[in-house]
Amino acid sequence: FDQREGTIWLNGALLPWGDAKVHVLTHGLHYGSSVFEGERFYAGRVFKLKAHGERLINSCRIMGMDCPYSADELDEAAQEVIRASGLSDGYLRRVIWRGSGMMGVAAQDSGLNVAMASWEWPSYFTPDALEAGLRLTISDWRRPPPDCAPTQAKAAGLYMICTLSKHAAEQAGYDDALMFDHRGLVAEATGANVFFVKDGALHTPDPDCFLNGITRQTVMELAQRRQIRVIERAIRPDELEGFEQCFLTGSAAEVCPVSQIGPYRFDVGDITKQMVRDYHDEVRRLPGDRSAVA
Ligand code: PMP
Repeated sequence: FDQREGTIWLNGALLPWGDAKVHVLTHGLHYGSSVFEGERFYAGRVFKLKAHGERLINSCRIMGMDCPYSADELDEAAQEVIRASGLSDGYLRRVIWRGSGMMGVAAQDSGLNVAMASWEWPSYFTPDALEAGLRLTISDWRRPPPDCAPTQAKAAGLYMICTLSKHAAEQAGYDDALMFDHRGLVAEATGANVFFVKDGALHTPDPDCFLNGITRQTVMELAQRRQIRVIERAIRPDELEGFEQCFLTGSAAEVCPVSQIGPYRFDVGDITKQMVRDYHDEVRRLPGDRSAVA
């Protein structure tokens, strides 16, 4: 992945893709002091650019990292990267991490680095899996409580258990894993939030120890525009059996139907399909056009 055509923005300059390098004694590499954003652009425009830029700055603040750029400057740089890529639709990754200025747990003078890259990423899951609905297993790893990790930051360190869970799921032949939280309640997938459908309403866990995803918030708004009730609440694992439909939401994943979680089966039903379509329309809707819901 590190030798491609194209450019990567690193600390204010656009570099040839293969030249955007870090030193091996980088604090972010040794101690996980890194925050990032995963975003998609459609027809050259990043969906919810401002919300992502603000979350990036907020992740820095939570991690005690003093970002040298304002949210607006980060957003302008993102647009520059996308223009330079020549892509119309694609994925944007922005990442901020502590550098190599000092080595040890303390990192006040390690320096901060900012990088942005974009590439084509047509679908997070395979088209076949999307059509039939994703098959999820249940992870052995649990999301930590907010007093054991900075759970509201999109911080690299929090993804250790996500990669472990995702690898275990794929190894066992599944597409992804559902994770429970520290209390044993339903939390989210390894890189996306989860929704369930029952009796015409959406149910989704309270995001009190994982990201309140930007896609999650968008889908809640889209559902409400269609007069579909959205209930945010604690969801116990024993309730999985009673839900009719299930889907995941995330900037990379978009809205993905789920057909199975462990022993439980779900239909790729009408509300799920409606949310897939509404999200697809919403990300491509031009600013000011409020006519999307028909
Ligand atoms: N949870 C996790 C663990 C994620 O990685 C993501 C993707 N960023 C989400 C939820 C969804 O967040 P968003 O909709 O803001 O992309």
